[in-house]
Parts: sequence; structure tokens; C-alpha cells
Amino acid sequence: MTQPIKYFILLAVLLISTAQANELPDQLRISLLITAQSAGSPEAFTVSGGRWGTERHLVHAALLVEHPQGRFLFDTGLGRDIDSAFAANNWINRKLLAYEELNPALDQLEQAGYQASDIDFIIPSHLHWDHLGGLPDFPTTTVKVLPRGLEEAREHGQRPAFLPEHLAGPRQWQDLQLSDTPYQGFDRSLDLFADQRLILVDLSGHTAGQVGLFINLDSGKRLFFIGDTAWTLRGVEHNRSRPQFVQWIAHVDSDREANAQVLQQIHQLSEEQPELLIVPAHDELVAQQLAHFPDFED
Ligand SMILES: [Zn+2]
Repeated sequence: MTQPIKYFILLAVLLISTAQANELPDQLRISLLITAQSAGSPEAFTVSGGRWGTERHLVHAALLVEHPQGRFLFDTGLGRDIDSAFAANNWINRKLLAYEELNPALDQLEQAGYQASDIDFIIPSHLHWDHLGGLPDFPTTTVKVLPRGLEEAREHGQRPAFLPEHLAGPRQWQDLQLSDTPYQGFDRSLDLFADQRLILVDLSGHTAGQVGLFINLDSGKRLFFIGDTAWTLRGVEHNRSRPQFVQWIAHVDSDREANAQVLQQIHQLSEEQPELLIVPAHDELVAQQLAHFPDFED
């Protein structure tokens, strides 16, 4: 094969693969990007009544959602500059929140031919560091939040839970407007593309304005991403909150009582609808049941 033909074929392949990556799919599909995992802790640290002899490696993840009308990330996981942001934490928090195997969402996306600009918007489940850590990698992307979530983070947010650099700088923050339409027992909801496939609900408690995301795939599979209402599915199944001592050390929940009520509601939902896959943001065992980028499920 002559050189010019080789280059032409290479160029064509590149153009086709870029076009495929940037084109929105015909039907809803999702893919999980694991951006890091915690260095490891006994399960008893993650949920009240958890086992001391079982070591858990909670994950920090972003969910890529591709809908015929738009592409977005639900959470960002940890990003390229997280090491320097994290280094500003004190020693105890650096030990408690240690993570490893950093693999930022944007690195993974770029390896597959995506660019940051291919992401139309970001919806963080809430504004804690481990959910927003990839935000600086998407400097021009609009972030959609419940207004009181942003208010809490800006006015009361403190290290290590909130990192000020994630909330500063020029960026478009857009209010999510939930309607009074109930969904699956939650009083207010937002049907993102008005087709009953992606529905946001208010899960305030862990933080003000935490949102959960129901996903109804064409395959019939249904998922419910619950942010940090519980760190593990065990917490949902047993209706058990995080241990009290974790709350004392790290003040994890903005409103522990409200979070317990949301957890109770999700626990009940999981009992009534065992086919609904409940996805706590950090549960590495549940994450194993999802398609990992660059694979998708639809
Ligand atoms: Zn978290």
C-alpha cells in the first residue's frame, strides 16, 4: 500500500471513530466510569452493623448517560487535579479519605475519542469533593443543581467534605426545577427529557439538595442512583445509616435525621420492587453489576 493511501485510510478511520463518539445514540444508554477507589476500610466503618472482618474498597465513580437528546455525567468522580486539592486536607482526613488507582473520567473519555465539550451538562448527586472532583476537567460545562445544594455548599461548605475550588471560578450553574409531580413515592420530580426514562428526585439529607436519578432502560431494566444516602447496598437492605462514630469524626450528613428518613423510604421501595437496582454511589459491589466505560448498557 502506498503512503498516501495509508494516510487516507488512517484519516478516514479517525474521522469515523470521532463521529461515532460524538453522535448521540438512538436510545438511552449508560456507562459507569470508575475514577478511583478508597484505600480500604472495614465494612463496619461504612454502615451501622457492618462487618469488621469484611474489607470494603468503595469506589468514586461518574455515570455517563447518553440519551438521544443529550449526553451528561451524573457525578464526576475524582479528576486530574484531585491530588493537589486533597493535599490541603489535614492528616487525619487524608488518612480517612485516602484513595488509590486514580483514573479521571476525562482521561477515560479522551482515550475513547470523546472530548470534554461532548458532555452537554453535569448533574452532581451532591456537591461533596468525591462527586465533584472531576469538575475542573470540564471548565465550560454547565452544572445543574438544586439551588439549596449550591447555597449550602457555598455558605457552609467546609473541608474535607466540600472543596472550595470546585465551587469557585466562572461557570454556569443552572437550577434544576423539580415539579410537584410525585414519582415512586417521592413528592417532587423532574422528568429530564419528558419521556419517563430519566427522572430526578430530591434526596436532601446527606446534603441539602442531594438528588437521586431513576433510569428506565429500554431493556426493561430499572436503576435508582441514590447518591450517598447510603454508602453501601447493605445500608439500604438493612435500613441502617452510617455509624454514629463516623458522623462524629467527619460530620458526613448535613441532616442525619432527614437522611435516615430518605433511607427508610428507599429501603421500603427496594422491598416493594426487588427488580429495581438500587445504586449507592460508592458501593463497589453494585458497581460490578453495571457496564463499565467504554462498554454501555441500554
Ligand atoms: Zn460520596
